[in-house]
Amino acid sequence: MAERGRFLPAPTPETQHFWDGARAGELRLQRCEPCRRAYFPPRPFCPRCGSRKVTVFKASGRATLFSYVISYRPLPGFAPPYSIAVVQLAEGPRMLTNIVGCPQTPEALQLDMPVEVTFEKQSDEVTLPFFRPVAS
Ligand SMILES: [Zn+2]
Repeated sequence: MAERGRFLPAPTPETQHFWDGARAGELRLQRCEPCRRAYFPPRPFCPRCGSRKVTVFKASGRATLFSYVISYRPLPGFAPPYSIAVVQLAEGPRMLTNIVGCPQTPEALQLDMPVEVTFEKQSDEVTLPFFRPVAS
């Protein structure tokens, strides 16, 4: 899915740890120390309690498929059909992503199926995390 022309996010100081991690092949989340809860997307304070005592950690990269749609709409950088999915990370947060490495069909995309992160470099700055079915 590394076609040219895809819209790419621009790293900011608050999200840099996430993009640095993706380039290094790590899915990095943040955890609030008072709550002990992991959260995503990146921000410098806990979305639950507002604490700024947060740390960055490497997530397992394991998740399950929570929800998705299959899009047939051509978009720059996307070859239809493609999935737009929400995965439930093992650490708790949900993440919007694409499921790759399997047919983009309801038969192949089973809800709750185990998926794992995989990274695809898009530019010198941006590597995107996608998820693929766990080989069984
Ligand atoms: Zn908190």
